[in-house]
Amino acid sequence: MVAIRLLPENDTTNGWSAVLPPRTPRPPLVATITADWAIIGAGYAGLAAARRLAEHRPGDSVIVLEAGAAGEGAQGRNAGFAIDLPHNVTSSLAELEESARYKRLYRAAIDHLDETIRTHGIACDWSRDGRYHAAVSERAVQSVLKPLVAELSRSGGEHRWVDRRALADEIGTDYYTAAVFTPGGYLVNPAALSRGLADTLPGNVTLCENTPVVRFEPGVPSRLVTPKGEVKARQVVIAVNGFADRFGYFRHRLLSFAAHASLTRPLSVAEIAKLKGRARWGLTPANAFAGITMRRTADNRILVRQNVSFRPDLRASDEERARVALHHKRLFDQRFHELSDVTIAHTWTGYICLSRNGAPGFGEVAPGVWASVCQNAVGMTKGTIGGLLLADKALGVRNPLIEDIEAVSGPAWIPPRPALDIGVRARFAFELWRSRAEA
Ligand SMILES: Cc1cc2nc3c(=O)[nH]c(=O)nc-3n(C[C@H](O)[C@H](O)[C@H](O)COP(=O)(O)OP(=O)(O)OC[C@H]3O[C@@H](n4cnc5c(N)ncnc54)[C@H](O)[C@@H]3O)c2cc1C
Repeated sequence: MVAIRLLPENDTTNGWSAVLPPRTPRPPLVATITADWAIIGAGYAGLAAARRLAEHRPGDSVIVLEAGAAGEGAQGRNAGFAIDLPHNVTSSLAELEESARYKRLYRAAIDHLDETIRTHGIACDWSRDGRYHAAVSERAVQSVLKPLVAELSRSGGEHRWVDRRALADEIGTDYYTAAVFTPGGYLVNPAALSRGLADTLPGNVTLCENTPVVRFEPGVPSRLVTPKGEVKARQVVIAVNGFADRFGYFRHRLLSFAAHASLTRPLSVAEIAKLKGRARWGLTPANAFAGITMRRTADNRILVRQNVSFRPDLRASDEERARVALHHKRLFDQRFHELSDVTIAHTWTGYICLSRNGAPGFGEVAPGVWASVCQNAVGMTKGTIGGLLLADKALGVRNPLIEDIEAVSGPAWIPPRPALDIGVRARFAFELWRSRAEA
């Protein structure tokens, strides 16, 4: 029996849920029960797996155990980009093949989310706004944007080159040298989406929120112990992203990073009039760590996402968030000087799980135990498709995308701590320094 010693913590700072009406979470588990399927984690992977399993097997019982509340974990704290294309590509044959696989997987995830949102009328500001992938420095234009354009041209991917002046007209800042606009991605309020996905599960799925799994015994059946209950399940799906190594899987393969985001207060009518450009847009940086992700949201706030740091303890303090909020305000002012009266309303921390080779963890990790984890910071699509395909695979349902996800899966080994900490921090500091012009 594995004791799960590190659990997620809800610091109640999530800005995306703060701007929504309050929601009452589903009751926690307070009984000993048996189920055909137990899913741990109600993020994109867990909920997609639950939905797909329940649809294939309407007679089976499926229980989802979530440590916190739907939309309060990373699933509801992210920047809200449903990514349809890999961020950066090079021209090696292997990478082009991998990129084609990822495109198919991301597209299938977006189609699934789109259909679910429409079918259930989930109000989450889901909209096909596309994405600007932008560079501040000429160096990043040459090393990131130009190869991206070459790849998109070669593969027939719809895109548009946007120079500094055009970008200023479209998003209201001339801070960037250029961007590549691709129209296929969606923007969303991720907390609203996650709540909606949780609240529209099929009838044979029971969701228990505020129900952390604190002890786990894999087997047939597996035993999952929670603070006030216990589940015996024939099959288990581990969908806890960076917490998977706490359950004994993917050990020495997962890297947890804290990432911070802020939302400004809504712009006033006068401020909206000053800000040129589209009513909604999203921008990702040429360098994901040094650069900042930005959005103009449906309710006329600006999102800033930066300040990523290695955080194996998955904890951050209020003092750190206060420092980050000041930094986000500076970054905002640099880009929108005419809006310097606009204040930051919410700053929060979330955790992303990366692997050294960018590969997710997917598949059967022990008899009757399945996992879709390590979404490498694009979990809205990668986690969604991971959960769907995991359900298909576990049920023996044929789906050609299983080959795609298996071909790109398998997080690479990383050395144990504390050598790991020194190595990752040094590598990361170098990366930030090298790409400092993108900040
Ligand atoms: C600031 C920020 C910006 C980001 N921007 C984007 C973006 O724009 N687009 C994108 O696609 N991705 C983005 N990401 C990454 C994205 O949020 C994650 O990749 C995604 O949430 C992973 O989905 P998941 O379902 O695998 O895991 P999660 O969403 O992390 O869900 C796992 C769940 O498991 C639960 N859990 C953990 N341990 C236990 C336990 N012992 N018992 C029960 N439950 C447990 C957790 O509470 C959690 O709710 C961002 C992340 C952050 C932090």
